[in-house]
Amino acid sequence: MLYNQIQEAKGNIRVFCRCRPLRNEEMQSGFATVTDFNAANDGELGILSGGLTKKIFRFDRVYTPQDGQVNVFADASPMVVSVLDGYNVCIFAYGQTGTGKTFTMEGSEQNRGVNYRTLEQLFKISEERKETFTYNISISVLEVYNEQIRDLLATSPISKKLEIRQAPEGAHHVPGIVEAKVGNITEVWSVLQAGSNARAVGSNNVNEYTKNLMTEECTKSKLWLVDLAGSERIAKTEVQGERLKEAQNINRSLSALGDVISALASKSSHIPYRNSKLTHLLQDSLGGDSKTLMFVQISPLEQDLGETISSLNFATRVR
Ligand code: ADP
Ligand code: MG
Repeated sequence: MLYNQIQEAKGNIRVFCRCRPLRNEEMQSGFATVTDFNAANDGELGILSGGLTKKIFRFDRVYTPQDGQVNVFADASPMVVSVLDGYNVCIFAYGQTGTGKTFTMEGSEQNRGVNYRTLEQLFKISEERKETFTYNISISVLEVYNEQIRDLLATSPISKKLEIRQAPEGAHHVPGIVEAKVGNITEVWSVLQAGSNARAVGSNNVNEYTKNLMTEECTKSKLWLVDLAGSERIAKTEVQGERLKEAQNINRSLSALGDVISALASKSSHIPYRNSKLTHLLQDSLGGDSKTLMFVQISPLEQDLGETISSLNFATRVR
């Protein structure tokens, strides 16, 4: 299978590029686009910038705006098997606000995304393997906001600060968080809804939303599913006070994530996990034996070209 060939040829980091479709009103108003998907199947995305020049970006997959949730998950699903084989896995979506990060990860009830499909498949495979293995699956839903960890499944307000600790055998964990045991996909759905409702509101580029799933055999593995905050640069002149602090913290965690992944990609001896709560939290699932899948999400519009190029460059840097 092609995917496995790619997997062997490269390290454990894969990058899939997904572009949102034009909205009806954008189509009607004839907005200019910069994306060229002619070679999408070969993993190439063309970006027309400055009229005639076309810059080519290469990724493990490039989806056209017509590719739906089923197509996308088909490529992501080998990661699910890896989790049940005992690997730590991290799947995250990066990009400007409005480019479909939440659509890819969460989706909607009619159009379910990676999170739901992943868990559904975990249950399906663990059922198929039940003669041989017993899997215990539990979920945590966390938010990292302003360099603080919040437990979105906590039912009572927690007074103590949640911190990341390292167990003697090396694994990182957050003592005190809710780990909801789930036995089937219906239970998962209600747990995820509870988490969604608790999320910070009133700001559209909040949060890294992370879900941590552990399966136990005689080993433990973790799967992080991360919906990152929007990657757009916010000019200091545009925001002040709390919003400025928020923007700076988002920049900090996203650039820390970029630094970690590019250090891993270049096989550097020092991986700067400790530079942000996000990377510290994900440490066990980034690098080492673990497998990482990044969705770089983009807009097709000419007016978003600057952010699109910046996201594509970020994604290129991590390969
Ligand atoms: P983000 O989380 O990156 O801010 P969203 O996931 O909220 O972006 O997407 C913005 C809007 O675009 C939503 O209405 C979403 O449903 C729509 N959208 C994004 N990607 C797609 C897609 N591939 N197909 C259909 N609709 C999409
Ligand atoms: Mg979102």
